[in-house]
Amino acid sequence: VTRVFLAERPGAGPIKDDTFAVERVPLPQPASDDEVLVRVDYVSLDPAMRGWLNDTRSYIAPVKIGETMRAQGLGTVVKGNKTFQVGDQVSGGLGWAEYAVLKEKALTKITPPEGSTALDYLGPLGMPGMTAYIGLLEVSGINAGETLLVSGAAGAVGSIVCQIGKLKGAKVVALAGADEKCRWLEEELGVDRALNYKSPNFRKEFKDAVGYLDVFFDNVGGDILDLALTRLNKNARIALCGAISDYNVKEKKGMQNYLNLISQRAKIEGFVVLDYTARFPEFAAEVAQWIKEGRVKRKFHIEEGVERCPEYLQLLFNGGNTGKLVVKVSKE
Ligand code: NDP
Repeated sequence: VTRVFLAERPGAGPIKDDTFAVERVPLPQPASDDEVLVRVDYVSLDPAMRGWLNDTRSYIAPVKIGETMRAQGLGTVVKGNKTFQVGDQVSGGLGWAEYAVLKEKALTKITPPEGSTALDYLGPLGMPGMTAYIGLLEVSGINAGETLLVSGAAGAVGSIVCQIGKLKGAKVVALAGADEKCRWLEEELGVDRALNYKSPNFRKEFKDAVGYLDVFFDNVGGDILDLALTRLNKNARIALCGAISDYNVKEKKGMQNYLNLISQRAKIEGFVVLDYTARFPEFAAEVAQWIKEGRVKRKFHIEEGVERCPEYLQLLFNGGNTGKLVVKVSKE
């Protein structure tokens, strides 16, 4: 069976051709009663993976050289035990491989609620959806009538943030890197305004559309964060979710306009979704209800073939995905 592993750390800057390697290995086998063999059906590709390749202090240990690349996935149990039966659908850290053996406590059995599918556990009911929910409702808080700015708005996390913002009664301004993404955000997801940050008139359009913002859910960092800092309302909150524009950059420029945080009594706060895992079932139940009612929509960008995960990962950094990027692994 095929697996993709970390061959060399890329250092600062973009992922290189020799960062990952692909090999064929024998089908892994459970070594004890508390282990389960899972056929991997889908794996998730996430911007955070770039950070896991660096041997630096972070919220999670780096992936080791030679280790199968860490990834959330969906799978089907093919060798079970007392807890998991053959055929059960599960989610967990399956990694970039066709088959995985995991401890049973590392797996969650999934039974999609009405209106949802198994794939939603990699999207709105999984890590991206929980990130959106937590950053917007637990970290920054949003009130009806407030102005919410969302960067990376057409991605997995951002697209859910925009919709939760709308259903909480905020005015939502969304930023994305393509006109087609902006159309989707306005026409399908119902944001008030979507702007292409690559447009030559962007800075002017930004000022006109945003006015002053109360909450900024930032997935991008860098220049966009700096621009947003010039448009803060008093007591504005910035939920610092990610900074994808800086993940592959050697020299980060830093915030030039941060003094506005003082004059506007504003707050900028980073958060990590993993700190909230105990509350995922509660949050996911609410999101599932919104999906069922048609108030939260989702889009998946599906690629195929686990051996091509390294190249598909680049889609996150060049804007090639709309919605949640996943790779179909099993051919069944
Ligand atoms: P997305 O689906 O949003 O994919 C990434 C998107 O980022 C791309 O589609 C691209 O869209 C945009 N992008 C890439 N490079 C740049 C750039 N230089 N400038 C502006 N936009 C860029 O990914 P996710 O939804 O999975 O993740 C979104 C963010 O959330 C990431 O920063 C991620 O690290 C973070 N995150 C944080 C978590 C936490 O616990 N704090 C948990 C999960 C995710 P476009 O065409 O618009 O440029």
